[in-house]
Amino acid sequence: MTIIDGKQLAKDIKAELAIKVSSIKAAGGKIPHLAAVLIGDNAASESYVRNKVRSCEQVGFNSTLIRQDESISEDALLEIVDDLNRDDDIDGFIVQLPLPKHINEQKITLAIEPKKDVDGFHPMNFGRMAQGLPSYLPATPYGILQMLERYNIETSGKHCVVIGRSNIVGTPMSILLSRKAKIGNCTVTLAHSRTKDLKAETLRADIIIAAIGRANFVTADMVKEGAVIIDVGINRVEDATKKRGYRLVGDVDFEGVLSKVSHITPVPGGVGPMTVCSLMMNTLKASKGEIF
Ligand code: NAD
Repeated sequence: MTIIDGKQLAKDIKAELAIKVSSIKAAGGKIPHLAAVLIGDNAASESYVRNKVRSCEQVGFNSTLIRQDESISEDALLEIVDDLNRDDDIDGFIVQLPLPKHINEQKITLAIEPKKDVDGFHPMNFGRMAQGLPSYLPATPYGILQMLERYNIETSGKHCVVIGRSNIVGTPMSILLSRKAKIGNCTVTLAHSRTKDLKAETLRADIIIAAIGRANFVTADMVKEGAVIIDVGINRVEDATKKRGYRLVGDVDFEGVLSKVSHITPVPGGVGPMTVCSLMMNTLKASKGEIF
């Protein structure tokens, strides 16, 4: 049984990126520049954005953080997006979600110039991904592909069950793994809240990707012997022994399934650290004009 060490993998990928940036610098090339727009003071968003900015520093990218108050109007945010679209020094940018309720997230996503959409959320990127054309892959699925590749996990011909159909994780993951690609060629089942007999589905899975948002939801009785488990979920469970009163767990009952699986990602330290690496990889591609 192998525990997939997302933290170490992310460190390795960042070190590789830092070498690439050094050689760009040495050759007098353009330093990749990522901008992040953070609205309001949501603690989780704060920490995600801080992590993204810190990662830029670690790999040698330039970064710009634009903070705005929760009360910003939709029009004012659209103006910021427009400025970033036009700024030649910014290679890519993200608008951290979720946005305040009075702002239409879809409208903002659609306003981002696809060639700077390093989150891969614009329908232009999503459509290109679905057709197997060059595109910025959404960060979490891209990180999972990296994990599967670097741990030499065979995907071709395997049956993969993705649980959860969000636009940022489950749905793109199901498309990517069914694509004809080095990490792909799976037979994919996309399960969700209306799936009738989830256990019957997961018991047939060689690879389970859980992106549900429910603590310890996937239990040992749902898992086939030798399965690969990728746990995307990040859930808080009360824990009086912790200073902050809670700990983070995934969607999979990690301890319970451990003796059955061939590979598994822990939470924390699995998929999470890979997500920011994907953003860095997309930003480097953006600065080199590799996608558009
Ligand atoms: P979401 O919250 O938008 O949707 C949850 C999905 O789970 C839905 O598609 C729903 O159909 C499915 N679902 C709910 N109940 C179910 C049930 N009983 N049986 C089967 N399916 C069920 O999903 P999301 O935004 O993809 O997030 C999922 C989890 O992944 C969350 O815990 C989130 O915090 C985490 N997440 C982690 C990362 C990371 O980098 N590690 C990135 C994104 C999301």
